[in-house]
Amino acid sequence: MTNRTADVVVVGGGVIGTSTAMHLAMMGAGKVVHVEQGHLAGGASGLSGAMVREHYLHPALVRMSMEARSVFHNFAEVVGGDARFRRTGRLQLFPQHDEPAVHANVAMNRDLGVNIEMLTPSEATRIVPQLDVSGIAVCAYEPDAGYADPVATTYAYAERARSLGAEVLTGTPATGLATSGGRIVGVETAAGHIETGAVVVAAGSRTNRLVGPVAEQLPIVAARVQMAHFFRPPALESLSAIVIDRTTGAYLREDAGRGTLVGAEGPGDLIEVDDPDDIPRNADHDMIESLWRRAAQRLPDFAAATCRGGYSAHYDMTPDANPIIDRSSSVPGLFYAAGFSGHGFKLSPVIGRMVAELVLHGECMDHPVDRFRLSRFAEADPLLAEHPYRGTSHQ
Ligand SMILES: Cc1cc2nc3c(=O)[nH]c(=O)nc-3n(C[C@H](O)[C@H](O)[C@H](O)COP(=O)(O)OP(=O)(O)OC[C@H]3O[C@@H](n4cnc5c(N)ncnc54)[C@H](O)[C@@H]3O)c2cc1C
Repeated sequence: MTNRTADVVVVGGGVIGTSTAMHLAMMGAGKVVHVEQGHLAGGASGLSGAMVREHYLHPALVRMSMEARSVFHNFAEVVGGDARFRRTGRLQLFPQHDEPAVHANVAMNRDLGVNIEMLTPSEATRIVPQLDVSGIAVCAYEPDAGYADPVATTYAYAERARSLGAEVLTGTPATGLATSGGRIVGVETAAGHIETGAVVVAAGSRTNRLVGPVAEQLPIVAARVQMAHFFRPPALESLSAIVIDRTTGAYLREDAGRGTLVGAEGPGDLIEVDDPDDIPRNADHDMIESLWRRAAQRLPDFAAATCRGGYSAHYDMTPDANPIIDRSSSVPGLFYAAGFSGHGFKLSPVIGRMVAELVLHGECMDHPVDRFRLSRFAEADPLLAEHPYRGTSHQ
């Protein structure tokens, strides 16, 4: 076991921790040590749908996702490496009751510069001719959206961090936070003690296990989510756009050629669990059937798809389904970047910069990090949409 010294330690090797370590290294934070208990992208990040969109329902999140989308479009120049981003477009299908909210949100997104347009159901069939649009009142289309490879993205962030001098230690659980006089003085890890004055915990739904013994508990719960994988039949071979069906809660996105991932975020699709390490790795048979049925309801040819199985993962949900990006109010030197509630992948390039700025400068230059403060929950000031869509786990 080696004892180390670091200016900043980052805990958690998902997209948020690796992006944070990379931005800290880019900003000249000094010695950055990054620890991951297993392998990089071994948590939610590696199992992510990794869809990248700009359509959000709060202006702060729209601006953040616009910047992030631009990073994914120019990943090799900005980060280095290849996130394997594929621009497919993203079509969202809404029932009647969401129509006023769609009008308001698309207008707000367009005012901020997002390339998004409203389509009638029959116009939507120009994008996806195989669609059955019954029950659809209105659609929103983002041609610049797409998806990336979440494992490649995580490794690209880590590789850039490494190339800038960060030390990335995998197979290295952080087992405790060391404090003295009430402030952070180090991190205990399976590879020894790391002396440091600043720790960023980006450990997803396991964040409380590490910070709980020394600081405040964060309102983060783990929720099981299930995905199924199919091969599309020949009649759907041309389908490339992401389809988000707000009437059934299901979404489909292409996965390497004929492959298609189907997920769902409707009411009842997420199941809260006590222990994120105690969820089955596979999807339940009933859930796979349900995802398949919902996909075939919108794309009838999907009934002839070939099912390739399914998997489970979890979201780290907060009460308003938005992340906590903050410094601890009780332990100086301790920072949080967790609770991404099922939508942190696309935001990762921007979150990493925001967290690094918070650590190094105490504030962010151009995004309102204060809006993601932990105390918003106690202050009854959650980060909510002005015009929410009904019945989804996050907006
Ligand atoms: C099925 C699914 C689909 C999704 N689809 C999308 C999508 O389409 N678009 C989108 O934007 N987002 C999506 N998300 C959400 C997105 O993937 C997550 O918000 C994001 O990956 C969270 O990254 P993270 O780094 O915070 O967490 P994680 O990837 O979970 O990383 C946390 C890491 O911390 C490590 N760790 C925990 N405790 C310790 C410790 N004590 N010591 C050391 N290491 C520790 C864990 O091993 C883990 O690797 C999806 C998520 C899932 C599960």
